[in-house]
Amino acid sequence: MRGLSLQRVSWRRALRHPGLHPRSTSRWATTCTDRKRRAEETRIESLTAKWQPHWDKLSPQWHELRKSDRGNAYVLPMFPYPSGTLHLGHLRVYTISDVLARFKHMQGYKVLHPIGWDAFGLPAENAAIERGVHPETWTLQNIEAMKGQMKEMGGRWDWDAEIQTCDPHFYKHTQRIFLMLHERGLAYQAESLVNYDPVDRTVLANEQVDASGRSWRSGAQVEKVMLKQWFLKIKAFQEPLLKDLDALAGNGRWPEKVLAMQRNWIGKSEGTKLCFDIESASSDVHFEPVDVFTTRADTLFGVQYIALSLRHPIVQQLAVKDESLQAFIEQAKELPPDTKEGYLLPNIVARNPIADSNDANPSPVSIYVAPYVLDDYGSGAVMGVPGHDTRDHAFWRTNAGEQPIKVVISSKQGVAPSTLEPGTGEDVPMTEKGFVATNIARFGDMTSEQAAGKIVDAIRSSGKQAEKTATWRLRDWLISRQRYWGTPIPIIHCYSCGPVPVPEKDLPVKLPNLPDSFFDGRKGNPLAEDEHWKKTTCPKCGSAAERETDTMDTFMDSSWYFFRFLDPKNENALVDPVKTNSGMPVDLYVGGVEHAILHLLYARFISKFLATTSTWPKGYLTNGEPFTRLITQGMVHGETFTDPDNGRFLRPDEVDLTNRSKPLVKATGLAPNVSYEKMSKSKYNGVDPGATIARHGADATRAHMLFQAPVGDVLEWDEKKITGVQRWLQRVVRLSTASWIPDDEVENFVVPTQIDAKLLSILQDLPSKEVLTAAQSSEIASSLSPVTRESLISSLKPEEAKLWIKTQQTTASVTESYSQTYSLNTIVSDLMTLTNTIWDTPHASPITPYLKWHSTAHLIRMLAPITPGVAEEAWHLLTTCTSNHPIEDSLPNPNPPYTVFATGFPIADLDIITLLTHTRKCVVQVDGKRKFDVEIPKLPDTMNTKDSKAVAKWMLGELVKTEEGREWLDRETGKIWKADKTGQVSEVFGMVPQGWKVIVVGGGKLCNFVGPRKGKSG
Ligand SMILES: [Zn+2]
Repeated sequence: MRGLSLQRVSWRRALRHPGLHPRSTSRWATTCTDRKRRAEETRIESLTAKWQPHWDKLSPQWHELRKSDRGNAYVLPMFPYPSGTLHLGHLRVYTISDVLARFKHMQGYKVLHPIGWDAFGLPAENAAIERGVHPETWTLQNIEAMKGQMKEMGGRWDWDAEIQTCDPHFYKHTQRIFLMLHERGLAYQAESLVNYDPVDRTVLANEQVDASGRSWRSGAQVEKVMLKQWFLKIKAFQEPLLKDLDALAGNGRWPEKVLAMQRNWIGKSEGTKLCFDIESASSDVHFEPVDVFTTRADTLFGVQYIALSLRHPIVQQLAVKDESLQAFIEQAKELPPDTKEGYLLPNIVARNPIADSNDANPSPVSIYVAPYVLDDYGSGAVMGVPGHDTRDHAFWRTNAGEQPIKVVISSKQGVAPSTLEPGTGEDVPMTEKGFVATNIARFGDMTSEQAAGKIVDAIRSSGKQAEKTATWRLRDWLISRQRYWGTPIPIIHCYSCGPVPVPEKDLPVKLPNLPDSFFDGRKGNPLAEDEHWKKTTCPKCGSAAERETDTMDTFMDSSWYFFRFLDPKNENALVDPVKTNSGMPVDLYVGGVEHAILHLLYARFISKFLATTSTWPKGYLTNGEPFTRLITQGMVHGETFTDPDNGRFLRPDEVDLTNRSKPLVKATGLAPNVSYEKMSKSKYNGVDPGATIARHGADATRAHMLFQAPVGDVLEWDEKKITGVQRWLQRVVRLSTASWIPDDEVENFVVPTQIDAKLLSILQDLPSKEVLTAAQSSEIASSLSPVTRESLISSLKPEEAKLWIKTQQTTASVTESYSQTYSLNTIVSDLMTLTNTIWDTPHASPITPYLKWHSTAHLIRMLAPITPGVAEEAWHLLTTCTSNHPIEDSLPNPNPPYTVFATGFPIADLDIITLLTHTRKCVVQVDGKRKFDVEIPKLPDTMNTKDSKAVAKWMLGELVKTEEGREWLDRETGKIWKADKTGQVSEVFGMVPQGWKVIVVGGGKLCNFVGPRKGKSG
């Protein structure tokens, strides 16, 4: 054991751990009371603010605090719109990303954790119009306000990478991306029917129009108008955008809910394109055949009508001479999208491309104009099958009255279903797949799938068109906005050359700097009205030309900003390709589930595009996917009070909260109804995170926020419960003052300098208190002989072993939660449990304080990502617990720097648990049938496991000490003895009757009692 002492000499000069306070030479003989007072003087609500100046000083060397030997990690929260105030939803997302970034940093990654501002957009422009202040002034003020709040929450950001999308240094590159897309034919201009708000004079996205067709902002009735607009051809990427979602599903990298929403939005449906000939009653009018798309070609024999969209070419052609059709089209614009109204076109019919009998003359099919048919679904025409589609059924009953409905598919084979008659109670369409009706020639009794294929084959062999194809719900991305506060589209319209890209050297096309007064009360697009800005010359031919006055959808800015963080100052390129290759994709992307569709889809599209360019040469390695792992956090709901008399929402000043758990309506003295709902002004349930932080401190607020709900769930914000978290953090601070060292031992206690030391080397080291590195201490541990190990371990009291096991188990589970499951709420509860275990472990021997010190050190380091202020304070207290040198004495320039964030994240030592565990579970069988299992001591190391008789005897001795064992083995009452008729004791094993065998398997994992064969059954 002492044979190691020779080598030890050279280890004396080993480096101290960089996160530790330099060891002081004099000791502070502090009494227990002194130490308790130190803890009581600590106000945990002020600790983030207390340590912020220290962290600011460390900030330039942040990445050098730890040896970054694990490579790069890019942790990114979705950047905020600068509305001016941080709300609780923001606080939640930034807390999550800050915690994960700090954890990865402590683990040894070089972490990029940047923040920026999604600074363009309508609210700034509307504020400008309302207040007569420039949108930029308003935006920059808001950014300043929010930056302050983000510092107060204890977040640690790479501020030197900060970006603002409204900065010309940024939007120059947004324009560059537009031109790269344009060059590849992926940005184009087209006439499009758009939602136009006549009050705000702008185009609205579908999501901005409510169910009654009104603008979400102005409330005006939205008009459908044709406008020339810019589009990005996202449809060119629809296949990979869909297919690559499968890879994101692996290992739960993206939440299943988000993947489903993306799939649904892209909306691929496989089906068949069929072609119906059109016949007109008058011989001088001719119509082209109509293409329809269907996912149910098997129902073709059930087609009873064709429905055309309002803008279908046949409808447009007929409307010229048909006044009642004109009137219908006009009136249809006012109808809801799912209307069942239709207009039967007189004098024309369609022909089913296949006959339902052997005579080759298909019956005529009516043609309706139906507003429910979308212009851009297939070709603006669908086939109507009332017997097998709910909507078609409703349409038919509305427009064709009581006419019978054909049923051509049945759930059973060999059936010829009868038609559907109204008012019979069985007038319900059969929408499932099944078997073709038995009476349909050639296809009867086939399954739906078989029939769909055979019908297509039959149509094609008759010389008509039919093909398997797919339709997509996804539309090209309309990016034109008729607004000022966005990225100008870098195009010049020349009367002779057409639209001409602005040359690279002329970028950025800057927004004109208009006076504040320009915006006051203004409607419409200021760019279109600024003649001076608009007029320019054509870059191609030099003649007079006009700038494009549309700006880009702000989703364009957020579709690529995460590239820019990697190289925020680059003037010549979006980002240096070398930096893209090493920095992309983002490892962890954190944001609200409300962005599950559009933002993520557009970001994936632009990333996939950039992966086909020199901007991201290695993008193909990840299919151009920008976000390896996506964490979507749930909403934060606020405590909401309503009046029990009338259901009215109550303002905070209408509720008496003197007793927080028993609120009262001030006016009536009644108890209000309390619920948790989405925060909104009209419900008076908003919470200002700044006020919460001021009251409870950033640390308690962060821990409370994580503790209350899993990150993906709705968080019901209940500030009452925060006091529990505060009490816990106070207890952590008290632990870290080492109040558990008895006064008579504190004089001799030496603060350990090897925080990652393994248990065996701590025990080995205790007599001499040598300074060893972690590697050396683990070398010692592994070089010990089994006997030495056992004697060291046996010096531990059971309570001490229990504490060490708990510490290692907690370290393992917390590490997994931080890095694999992101179950941040369980981290808080695990750390609370560990706190209590350390607190409750009694002083059992002079070893106890050292073990408690190490366990507390683990606790503080695991806590540091969540509560940086409390952890830094606690670390200071723990490392100086017997020293009178306040940390400030050794600042400002300690080398190595003093901070808990330089200490690394603890690594669980699970091997030691086996050594420390003295018992194991044993399953007991009788004649091979499991009877019970029981916790018994492990086989002693000294036992020869090959001596099965000795092992069995030892096992019997242990089993009989347990209650369950006695139930079977007791000589008087044991079940084995009751069945015995010999009355003799086994000479081999003792304790069991003659003829019984005891078989032990797996070193004591299983013990099987086998009785003598009863009778002679053969
Ligand atoms: Zn020109």
